[in-house]
Amino acid sequence: MAAAVPQADRQCREAARPTRDRVALDRGADRAHHICRIHHRALKVAERLERDGYGLGDRIATLAWNTARHIEAWYGIMGVGAIYHTLNPRLFPEQITWIMNNAGDKAIFVDLTFLPLLEKIAGAVKSLKQVIVLTDKAHLPETALPKVVAYEEWLAEADGNFAWKTVDENTAAGMCYTSGTTGDPKGVLYSHRSNVLHAMIEAMPDAMGLSSRDTILPVVPMFHANAWGLAQSAPMIGAKLVMPGCKMDGASIYELLDTEKVTFSAAVPTVGMMLLQHLEETGKKLPYLQKVVIGGASCPRAITTKFQDDYDVQVVHAWGMTEMSPVGTLCTLKPDYAGLKGDARLAVQQKQGFTPFGIEMKVTDDDDNELPWDGKTFGRLKVRGPTVARAYYGGIGSEQFDEQSWFDTGDIAHIDPGGYMQITDRAKDVIKSGGEWISTIELENLAVGHPDVAEAAAIGIPHSKWGERPLLVIVLKPGREPTKTHILAFMDGKVAKWWMPDDVAFVGEIPHTATGNIQKITLRQQFRDYHLPTD
Ligand code: ADP
Repeated sequence: MAAAVPQADRQCREAARPTRDRVALDRGADRAHHICRIHHRALKVAERLERDGYGLGDRIATLAWNTARHIEAWYGIMGVGAIYHTLNPRLFPEQITWIMNNAGDKAIFVDLTFLPLLEKIAGAVKSLKQVIVLTDKAHLPETALPKVVAYEEWLAEADGNFAWKTVDENTAAGMCYTSGTTGDPKGVLYSHRSNVLHAMIEAMPDAMGLSSRDTILPVVPMFHANAWGLAQSAPMIGAKLVMPGCKMDGASIYELLDTEKVTFSAAVPTVGMMLLQHLEETGKKLPYLQKVVIGGASCPRAITTKFQDDYDVQVVHAWGMTEMSPVGTLCTLKPDYAGLKGDARLAVQQKQGFTPFGIEMKVTDDDDNELPWDGKTFGRLKVRGPTVARAYYGGIGSEQFDEQSWFDTGDIAHIDPGGYMQITDRAKDVIKSGGEWISTIELENLAVGHPDVAEAAAIGIPHSKWGERPLLVIVLKPGREPTKTHILAFMDGKVAKWWMPDDVAFVGEIPHTATGNIQKITLRQQFRDYHLPTD
């Protein structure tokens, strides 16, 4: 039996060591600027939760932005042996209700912003016994919700004289559901052991390379796969955390980067783009920021170039999944690549990177035969390791895991001889033409490089000879009117001839999921009767 690891205790103590003066700072919905230490208040949360009857294995939800109170609640929940369950407010209300019922959440910590959303769904969540609103009494609005308390007054009833529960390291500490782009969302449990290992792995120099001298701004939300682990690794190493609250526009992020002298941040490409736009419009610079991790979706070349060339900020492209805690690969430069300049360097940085210690990966064909690491043969990407899920909550989706614990990510990728992986598609989206695979991501990236194209999606259309052939669906920028021939001529010569789309369709809008990804299933339905001119 593994040794007991009171993880929350260790991390909180680190986060609160007065000698290092590491603090969490946030911008919540009801307070503009606030400094706090995680440790003491997290102890109070645990003490209060225990007094209210919560303990080992109870699922306690959070519906909140990245704030200091949210982190305190997280550590308090873990400290009492319960399981924090971050809910993604960007999902549809029916999905959140389904998820809460599936998890059997007993209590919820909720931000003021999300109170109206909770009011809509709480009645349908039978297990829910208590609502703790992350505010004080003065800011608590009238609400029809039963059993509501204001966090600050609830917390004030505790003195923090509490000993963390000691649990086996394999006990569940946290929970997160996948976004459910295909079918119902699936629950993933993180153990205390996997969270600690993940936090250590990601802090390593060739991974995110975090240190106690860093000031870290996790723009990526805690409900988005644990803020990519930063809510755990920053307290572990004793770095200062700056929590952005609800404002993620370019100007608000810039303000925090500047006033708090942030050295490290992590965000999805869209947020990176908004920040760069703000900088361009205002002529401002980034004198303190040293590194930014971009992931969750493929990082466009333009983002990497601008951050690095115009602002001297290193970009680390990263890939991961909820099922991987979430970090899977990071693109830092190994010695053989470190000296690369210009386009050669950017070409490596377009890749999603290599696995840190502990994570194994391979690419296979449909019959599970392993494919070579030659940087071009692509296949199904599979991973395993101590920070990778071995099952979904409730045993659903078991076909994605095999007997040797390999998890089929549903991504299609190739790996080069140096171990750098590059995603070429999602398995369900890849176009199969004459038995060979065509990467839709590559076609889309190429198409959006055309100056008139706002958004592009490539889908497979049934073809009598080839099985499937690519159709490129395009949304144009306002006022632009290129022809199909213009678009195809722009792409010609930049991909293999047989990858070239057989046709281009212009549309006013491309459907998206609640979390902003292109909804290929709906798009394929819209074009199900489409007849290609080549067939
Ligand atoms: P996330 O919350 O980061 O989106 P999910 O588990 O919801 O995590 O989705 C993971 C999927 O997102 C991956 O399987 C992959 O398809 C996509 N993804 C994540 N990072 C990247 C990246 N850097 N490049 C391309 N796709 C990515």
